[in-house]
Amino acid sequence: MLVDLHTHSTASDGVLSPPQLLERARAKGVALLALTDHDSVDGVRALAANAESSPVALVPGIEVSTAIGAQAVHVLGLWIDSQHSALEALIDRQRARRERRAEAIGLSLEKAGISGAFHGARALAGDAPLSRPHFARYLVDAGHCSSEQQAFRRWLGKGKRCDVACEWPAADEVVDVIHSAGGTAVLAHPLKYRLTRRRLDALLAAFRDAGGDALELVSGAQPEGTVPDLLKLGQRNQLGFSTGSDFHNPAHTWCDLGGQQALPPAVRGIWESRC
Ligand code: AMP
Ligand code: MN
Ligand code: MN
Ligand code: MN
Repeated sequence: MLVDLHTHSTASDGVLSPPQLLERARAKGVALLALTDHDSVDGVRALAANAESSPVALVPGIEVSTAIGAQAVHVLGLWIDSQHSALEALIDRQRARRERRAEAIGLSLEKAGISGAFHGARALAGDAPLSRPHFARYLVDAGHCSSEQQAFRRWLGKGKRCDVACEWPAADEVVDVIHSAGGTAVLAHPLKYRLTRRRLDALLAAFRDAGGDALELVSGAQPEGTVPDLLKLGQRNQLGFSTGSDFHNPAHTWCDLGGQQALPPAVRGIWESRC
């Protein structure tokens, strides 16, 4: 069974609308799909109406930006009740944080000689919570660079000139909200944090201590050969295992919906006890 528990739509920084995403998942043979937009459940709600008739089983999800110490960490909430009041309140706080950070990014780009970026990114985001890819798209559209990746390399990426730190909520607070909304908390794309093995082990232990349930053992176009060691680290920290493409855009050829490598056959995925 093809499972993809990490995807994005226009309700955050993806480019397909929720129905377009669902149709592409069907066409790719995905049997179980979670829509996990950044700090938003608008897409999940939009799809809920189609859920009964959909050939793809839908898992309501979200990807929440959090912090463990000084490290920004993305936590997926899967099987959440998208109407839960504590979750709605968390989403409101995240939106406000994102707006404040986006204004600061806009000012920082002004200082670098690029005008109108905040309003440009705001317009591209529409109703979605503002995120750096909206700035990257504006910078490409306005001719300041040739690709979104280049915008991250020059201005928006970690440690670059217009990277603005954001005070994300602590992971334990976010895990509590996910649990109270009936969800499972999964640490997303563990290799994206670029930590040494020792630090990654400590991060997983801290996530477990924060109440975290599982680890994304396979994420997107993860390098071959990384799974066995991650599996060991996850087992040592008593975490379950999930899988997802982190799909944003059909033009991102490195990993399409459901295109991530399969979990090792001996590994039980978290969905096996939930579905
Ligand atoms: P934000 O949530 O505003 O911090 O933006 C994070 C999002 O930016 C991620 O979910 C990715 O979609 C995208 N992103 C982060 N780093 C890069 C990068 N180096 N190149 C392209 N996109 C990136
Ligand atoms: Mn993203
Ligand atoms: Mn992420
Ligand atoms: Mn993601």
